[in-house]
Amino acid sequence: MSALVLLTPDAPAGRVADPDVPQLLVTDLGVVRGDGVFETLLAVDGRALQLEAHLDRLASSADALDLDLPAGERWQAAIETGLAEFARVHGEAEAMIRLVGTRGVDAAGPPTCWVYLQPVPASSREQRHRGLDVLLLDRGYSSDAAEAAPWLLLGSKTTSYAVNMAALRYAHRQGADDAIFVSSDGRVLEGPTSTLLIARTRDGVRELVTPLLRSGILAGTTQGALFATAEPAGWRLGYGPLTPEELHGNDGVWLASSVRLLAPIRSVDGCEIAVSPELTEELTELLLTATRH
Ligand code: PLP
Repeated sequence: MSALVLLTPDAPAGRVADPDVPQLLVTDLGVVRGDGVFETLLAVDGRALQLEAHLDRLASSADALDLDLPAGERWQAAIETGLAEFARVHGEAEAMIRLVGTRGVDAAGPPTCWVYLQPVPASSREQRHRGLDVLLLDRGYSSDAAEAAPWLLLGSKTTSYAVNMAALRYAHRQGADDAIFVSSDGRVLEGPTSTLLIARTRDGVRELVTPLLRSGILAGTTQGALFATAEPAGWRLGYGPLTPEELHGNDGVWLASSVRLLAPIRSVDGCEIAVSPELTEELTELLLTATRH
């Protein structure tokens, strides 16, 4: 059971459509070329979390693609419409929301835009508790590629996620749950759908560390929200660069993302690492405090 809202010029708050019938033209460049942008966010108690951060990132991804999308208020109104429709058909307030904007059928515009809501997948909830076995996979770019080659769109959330999905399938075939990309110059980057977070203690101070943003990774809204509340709570914050060796010998390591939240990593390339359910709980609580605002 899901809900769909199309953003069309004639409906300022979006138009509810049937998610079970075809809505896209086969010539849509989002489908034909993967030419578009998207966001995935969580709604709890009928409210989309971190909405502003997601709308900001949608806008900056669209900018990187020279894609002229509707303004944030139109997305926000369509999300409200979608949440009301989802609650009506599903009777549940927790949802995974996907915002998609593609180039449309004609490169000169208009874009094709929609908001799709579905129940949170059971696997996301499970992985928060069970933890993840991950594989390190070569991303094939050096960590300075984002600056040297902006056309690669590194750091933008485009609908061209076939590589990310292939990496996940590769990891699954090897018996792992997820993957962490490593740059060709040996820097830890991110998961195919998540940000890496490390908790460690240095000189008696608790630190939260994440890879360098300018290494061509997506700026995670989950990591951003957690860092914003962790610092006043006494955590020191750090930004890579990180090497694969630094994934070992920590208090805990997680893959963070909007719907799965914090999923603890329990092994890297088959080598077990420390897992702390207490830290997962503490950091998840901090994160939820941040996202409630
Ligand atoms: N990195 C990549 C490549 C992602 O696809 C995602 C989430 O979709 C993230 C990081 C985490 O971003 P967020 O915390 O905003 O969900």
